Amino acid sequence: MDFKDMIRVIPDFPQAGISFKDITTLLKDGEGYRQAINELKALVAHLKIDVIAGPEARGFVVGAPLAYALGVGFVPIRKSGKLPYETIEVGYDLEYGKDTLAVHTDAIQPGQKVLIADDLLATGGTIATSVRLVEQLGGVVVGAAFLIELVQLHGRNKLSGIEVLSLLNYE
Ligand code: 5GP
Repeated sequence: MDFKDMIRVIPDFPQAGISFKDITTLLKDGEGYRQAINELKALVAHLKIDVIAGPEARGFVVGAPLAYALGVGFVPIRKSGKLPYETIEVGYDLEYGKDTLAVHTDAIQPGQKVLIADDLLATGGTIATSVRLVEQLGGVVVGAAFLIELVQLHGRNKLSGIEVLSLLNYE
């Protein structure tokens, strides 16, 4: 299946010069969505995973079905102020401004092997922040899985020591 045919590329969104990869056109295709998750499952099959963590919102769309398919749990990583129980937080810089991600303090047990999942790896800031949250809880990040990697942004350099697996590469 050629997944790139199912991903819509929107020029100059959300701002001039950005070529946005719109995965909603893949998600609405039942067969395409299922096969993309199945292929990601095959890519991570060699990893020993106890739990998957994914940052909101598109990390849920990839991480949760992958967790279900693997029969492991899913941990949501959310923007500050959204989670109801006690959290830890890590701030990070965006291209313009700052943001903060949070996770429940009891979401991951020390020593658990964690796969982090998101739709797309760009500069790697979101995933590097997710890695810090997991590691602060004592989790061991064994891999990071994406539908799409924007290879020219070299996000995987921010994830040294972590196996990075992506279904599709874009220049
Ligand atoms: P990074 O932190 O690696 O620079 O950016 C990745 C985050 O931004 C991901 O959570 C992803 O959802 C979002 N993102 C950045 N660019 C795109 C894009 O072109 N398409 C989609 N679907 N998400 C993007």
